[in-house]
Amino acid sequence: MSALAVTGLAVAGAPDAPDTAQATDAVHLADAGTDHTCETDGAAPDSDRRSSEGHDGEVTPEQAADHQEQLEDALGTDRGSQVAPPRSVPVVVHVISAEDGEGDVSQERVDQQIQVLNDAYGGVFASGEEATDTGFDFELVETTRHSDDTWFEEFSSNRDTIRAELHQGGPETLNVYTADLGAGVLGFSTFPQDIESSPEQDGVVVSHDTLPGGSRENFDLGQTTTHEVGHWLGLFHTFQNGCESPGDYVDDTPYEREAASGCPAGRDTCPDRPGEDPVNNFMNYTDDACMTHFTPGQAERMVQHWAGFREPQV
Ligand SMILES: [Zn+2]
Repeated sequence: MSALAVTGLAVAGAPDAPDTAQATDAVHLADAGTDHTCETDGAAPDSDRRSSEGHDGEVTPEQAADHQEQLEDALGTDRGSQVAPPRSVPVVVHVISAEDGEGDVSQERVDQQIQVLNDAYGGVFASGEEATDTGFDFELVETTRHSDDTWFEEFSSNRDTIRAELHQGGPETLNVYTADLGAGVLGFSTFPQDIESSPEQDGVVVSHDTLPGGSRENFDLGQTTTHEVGHWLGLFHTFQNGCESPGDYVDDTPYEREAASGCPAGRDTCPDRPGEDPVNNFMNYTDDACMTHFTPGQAERMVQHWAGFREPQV
């Protein structure tokens, strides 16, 4: 699975490049609320919030097309037929904290995070047609705790080592890591397409202060994890490819030129395309309180990725 040819980015596991992002890690940046530079090809704007992670989570149009090809290969001849509804997703949360206790997320907050995931994927935050029950639910099987200043403060530099050491389960198990990711980054995730080449790196990483009850302003309701799990289940950002086809490869999410921040009403950055920008979608960059739903098309895409890459073989 070396199809992810990414110019200028080290491949996962390169031992001499610990600061470089894994090729397709999707990084969710805390947005400063400033306008991003418009990039008509959908590539990541060179935002001043960009961190040392390497890139901010948008895959290039070529990478996105590559992912789609791999998805279609994975689904094979069954593509288009009804895929089985997903099962409950087992979750292992790895809480990494400083030796003085900073970032030691309580079990109560971990449990609240799991509840937020279940509510988000069950359609509870939205109403009417937007209240999509994706069919996924999440069950916490274990919380592991690790007190280590270096791991906590420099997770990104040590990410390959940490994940290789702590990762549990197979492709069906969601591993969530919490640590201090620095001022500009809320979280990042691997894609299902990465599993075959890097099974131990699979999972999502979120800043500890984004879990419910945390101190991250505007991002303290746990929707960072919801967003990153969306990537973990194969979703792109709603602004993937900007106004250009095929957008985010989901038919019922309106096109969007660039990420939204805050919670802008009536935003329409692709006026030649139907619909206003999906600012309330979990796969945008808006505030936690602004995010309410996935669409049926996104639910279907996640189920396809589950079937193609994550469903346990029986
Ligand atoms: Zn993202």
